[in-house]
Amino acid sequence: MKHRIVILILCAALALSLFSGCSAEGSTASSTRPDLTGKAVSVVATVFPIYDWTRQIIGENSDRVALTLLLDKGADFHSYQPTVEDMFKISTCDLFLYVGGESDKWVPDALAQSTNKDLSALCLLDALGAAVREEETPEGAQAEEEEEGEGPSYDEHVWLSLRNAETLCAAICDALCAKDPAGESVYRANCKAYTEKLSALEAQYAAAVEAAPRRTLLFADRFPFLYLAKDYGLNCYAAFSGCSAESEASFETVSFLVNKLDELELPCVMKIESSNSRLAETIISGSKAKNAQILELDSLQTVTAQGVAEGVTYLGVMEQNLEVLKTALN
Ligand SMILES: [Zn+2]
Repeated sequence: MKHRIVILILCAALALSLFSGCSAEGSTASSTRPDLTGKAVSVVATVFPIYDWTRQIIGENSDRVALTLLLDKGADFHSYQPTVEDMFKISTCDLFLYVGGESDKWVPDALAQSTNKDLSALCLLDALGAAVREEETPEGAQAEEEEEGEGPSYDEHVWLSLRNAETLCAAICDALCAKDPAGESVYRANCKAYTEKLSALEAQYAAAVEAAPRRTLLFADRFPFLYLAKDYGLNCYAAFSGCSAESEASFETVSFLVNKLDELELPCVMKIESSNSRLAETIISGSKAKNAQILELDSLQTVTAQGVAEGVTYLGVMEQNLEVLKTALN
């Protein structure tokens, strides 16, 4: 009992320090830090796409649910480790939403330390079931060294498929309804309306690829778009697989990509949002395609609290990506 009281005091002290930290961090940082008072349910989502889907499902029930984006400071989710502040958010929530791949190896330990005995967790890779894809190294890319004794590793960028998004929103909606039955009719209606938007955008992607004269993309970068590429039968070359920790391309990789650019006469070289254009520029300058454009696809891995405050949404980014894709496949 004494032990429990000490923990409560520690938690209260931590909570106080969290609140006093708000003003120092500026107003944007507090936008994803919910006010727990009077809310029926507290939900923590690790990465932005999961956060945004959940926010759309909660909709007008936002007075019932306190929703927190855990990785809201732009940390790379592949190397993320929870801070003490993050551990506090996790250990007190009712529903924890996470991807569940190699980058989330810290999750079981964090959940085991929860003070909430009714905590539920939803692993999106589990929810996807057979639609989960194993990581693939695109042709030309440097293979990552496999850790010994590891099973297959799954591609964690599950949100980069609008078809997955529909499945995963349904799973999130079910989990929310189980936690807050009183809000169920609103959650179900919001999820249905949002799924219709996802489905409409998915149809636009399918139509755009169908109408495009090309099916090939060349990434002078990492390649987190495996799910998107597989959905539409796109053939992709890349410097690195998934979100490889490598950042220096070998001479062999650069030569391979230069030759592919020339051979396929592609009008564009792709990069992702978090990297600079240096490798793309090197590849273009080494090829005959001096006028090739550098285009950016956003893999939604670096949306921060500030992005949330500025109104970034999953659908908005995927709409922009569609326009980029149309240019790249033309
Ligand atoms: Zn990644």
